[in-house]
Amino acid sequence: MAYATTNPYTNETLATFPLIGDEEMERALATAQETFEGWRAKSFDQRKEVVKRAAQILRERPEDFAKLPTLEMGKLYRESMDEVELAASILDYYAENAEEFLAPETVDTELPDAGRAVVVSDPIGILFGVQPWNFPYYQLARIAGPNLMAGNVVMVKHAEIVPQSAAAFERLMHEAGAPEGAYTNVYANKEQVARAIKDPRVKGVALTGSEGAGSSVASNAGEELKKSTLELGGSDALIVLADADLDMTVDRALWGRLNNAGQSCVASKRIIVVEDVADEFLRRFHEGVAQLKPGDPFDPETTLPPLSSQSAADNIDALVDEAVENGASVTTPGDPVPEEGAFVQPRILTGVTKDNPVHDKEFFGPVALFFRARDEEEAVRIANDSSFGLGGSVFTEDADHGMDVARRIDTGMVFVNHPTWTSPDLPFGGTKRSGYGHELSAAGIQEFVNKKLIKVM
Ligand code: NDP
Repeated sequence: MAYATTNPYTNETLATFPLIGDEEMERALATAQETFEGWRAKSFDQRKEVVKRAAQILRERPEDFAKLPTLEMGKLYRESMDEVELAASILDYYAENAEEFLAPETVDTELPDAGRAVVVSDPIGILFGVQPWNFPYYQLARIAGPNLMAGNVVMVKHAEIVPQSAAAFERLMHEAGAPEGAYTNVYANKEQVARAIKDPRVKGVALTGSEGAGSSVASNAGEELKKSTLELGGSDALIVLADADLDMTVDRALWGRLNNAGQSCVASKRIIVVEDVADEFLRRFHEGVAQLKPGDPFDPETTLPPLSSQSAADNIDALVDEAVENGASVTTPGDPVPEEGAFVQPRILTGVTKDNPVHDKEFFGPVALFFRARDEEEAVRIANDSSFGLGGSVFTEDADHGMDVARRIDTGMVFVNHPTWTSPDLPFGGTKRSGYGHELSAAGIQEFVNKKLIKVM
């Protein structure tokens, strides 16, 4: 286990970072706990000053932040810039709205002599975040924004391949005026994370990552009767109905499958098209994929960057091989990708049947699974035939009908005429093996507060 910056475009390791020692970890927890006592007592306006300032700094110097994910996990530079803005908008959103979201609620009780009943939202203490590399700042903003505004303090173990992005976010919070211990980045290993989660000072844990990581972290939390939220993988269906506007649909499907080099939990990993338009859709989709231009993620001309690491690239190649060995067919649009660097050849898989071992695996890269459906009924059935339940989308000219189809899809989020995406004011979360709990929106700030009833007779 080592925290290191390795540029996936060259596979060169540029810097390594030592693990936190156990004593230092103890000091970090003690400081966070002490800071919590002061932070919780601050007014919303005082906390807002810090969180808003952090958003402002991101917007003043986006390049300083954006270059790090591009260097560490190969994100296209323009996508890194978009992510910095998204992170700023999340911090702003909670700075502006937290007080209203957490305002005391009067309960109308109809009992005789009921008196007054109010539910208040108290902070609970240290929230521990375990976060992935695919959106290094967005992930941090969506736990730091709501929790700092709610009066909690935050400690984060980020993915080991993005240590500089992790440290940049901690520096950002300090520069914005957060006291030491309000936001702490720790280069911890899994044992240290497990111990921290079990530590009585830590009151909850928020994880985004794989099913394995979720299961392990949630078990540690569960043993100590602590709350967790899990945002795990997905294999979102993108359903195309016969009346869809194909130009728009193909453009958005390409984006839905390929943004962030396909490494998004809500990427459109399974494309399900009804028979009437399947051939035409596939022809155009294939054409779009063939136009990708692999290259340096810092180069504005590049549209296909490397994956986050060589092992991520190897995993995807192995999954494609496994799919094909078990009966799937593969097509390979476009020219071969460079041999050096963590590049993955974009591919389209067809004929992935239920008994194929990859059926319920997550293709975290530029590989689309294509399904042909007899009709809408069958499209919905295929969409729901997944162990995941994160997002999904339906493309149709008839938005009301799209809503009806969306209601029949068994996931946490369904978009009509757009792949699932994110915004500070929209709740984000899944069902089935995609996890539980919500981030973002008014719902995200309610996860780690004590909803305390105060009753006056
Ligand atoms: P992981 O789930 O392994 O990593 C996510 C985070 O969890 C990292 O910080 C990782 O740390 C940490 N972690 C992993 N296992 C444990 C554990 N037992 N205890 C504590 N922390 C843990 O994802 P990978 O990066 O390995 O990616 C593998 C797959 O996970 C992807 O192919 C994709 O399917 C899925 N994934 C989904 C994401 C999503 O957005 N839903 C995001 C990232 C991955 P460390 O880096 O030190 O291993």
